[in-house]
Amino acid sequence: MIQLTSAATLEKAITKARTVKPLVRVVKFGAYTVTNKATGATYTVECSKRDNKRFAHCTCKAGERGQACYHLASAVAAHIVLAAERAALNF
Ligand SMILES: [Zn+2]
Repeated sequence: MIQLTSAATLEKAITKARTVKPLVRVVKFGAYTVTNKATGATYTVECSKRDNKRFAHCTCKAGERGQACYHLASAVAAHIVLAAERAALNF
């Protein structure tokens, strides 16, 4: 579980995600599966918000160690878009 504070937290992971271009599937709002299309490896990423702080967790080895992996960065990018859409529909 890592806390998402600034874009810099995910900078390296975002760069890797741009190279790998993994497939992100929405399980439900806040839960995503991220698949490396080359290896078929799939991990689950959960995004949550508590006390106005944003957290995310990935089930891969790096994620279990609390590192910002590219799965997490990819899922967070999808989550931000979904959250913005939800907010826009709730006016
Ligand atoms: Zn991961």
